[in-house]
Amino acid sequence: MSSNKLTHQNISNGWFRESSAMWPGQSMNLEVNQILHVEKSKFQDVLVFESKTYGNVLVLDGVIQVTERDEFSYQEMITHPALFSHPNPERVLVIGGGDGGVLREAIKHPQVKEAVLCDIDESVIRVSKKYLPAMSASYADPKVSVHIGDGFDFLQNKKDYFDVIITDSSDPVGPAESLYQSRYYELMRDALRDGGIVSTQGECQWLHLPLIKEVLTFARRLFPVAEYAYTTIPTYPSGQIGFILCGKSKATNFKEPLRRVSPEQELKLFKYYNADIHRAAFILPNFTRTAIATDDAAESATPAAPAPTESA
Ligand code: SAM
Repeated sequence: MSSNKLTHQNISNGWFRESSAMWPGQSMNLEVNQILHVEKSKFQDVLVFESKTYGNVLVLDGVIQVTERDEFSYQEMITHPALFSHPNPERVLVIGGGDGGVLREAIKHPQVKEAVLCDIDESVIRVSKKYLPAMSASYADPKVSVHIGDGFDFLQNKKDYFDVIITDSSDPVGPAESLYQSRYYELMRDALRDGGIVSTQGECQWLHLPLIKEVLTFARRLFPVAEYAYTTIPTYPSGQIGFILCGKSKATNFKEPLRRVSPEQELKLFKYYNADIHRAAFILPNFTRTAIATDDAAESATPAAPAPTESA
């Protein structure tokens, strides 16, 4: 009897082995209980497996997107520093985010009246509804509407409408490549109302400083405020990932929550986010600070010539 056992090129001998040209020489491996879904969609290779210790795992083009065990760190930290920095985030747009996790976080804010999601690949939404219920439950919320399409195209005719735009995209290899370009940040800026905020998947300071610097450089040209923040997450390469936050108003200060809920509410609503970790997320190590410093800051930060030593 032919077994209908699914197979996938990234899984052998009971282990998933991640593969990406964006982090050469390293790879996250997860032990596999069973493969749940394998599909070649119009845009990407889609894999879902049940892991031994991280719950169900969604993989696109060989790269871990979310695991049930640690997704909350990423979903909360790409969402709440942005929303708690906005005085009244009524209209939220999520570009990408097909698993539904960012949507789930955004609609925790009672101020949010409308949450729109635009993902290029319907297969991710379909598969998430089946295998990632804790994230995709958000699609049932009446505030949520879904658009299938390229985020870059979706924004072409959107002007002065959204309060917060969250780009929860895969990496800039494949369908998400256009979402890491200056023109895309211009489109997001123009789609924001006054005081609007952008929060995007900003890659990892241990792996992608040149890319982070490049994006921050054009973001600083387009927005009066642009910052990098990061969170810890075991299954992303190097155990953490960053975010690029931009504010359309120079009054926006990401480093101090503008709004917050009580510590008791924080414990009830979030598994990762709290006001202290909001502030801490923007505190960066020296190697990152130096690498992403604004050009004038970099100049003024050039270490002064060592003081002349007293002649012996
Ligand atoms: N949290 C993950 C990360 O940090 O890599 C991303 C998760 S989410 C599944 C990534 C989503 O981006 C996918 O559903 C993919 O279909 C979507 N995506 C990629 N390129 C896109 C584009 N140009 N427009 C809209 N969605 C896109």
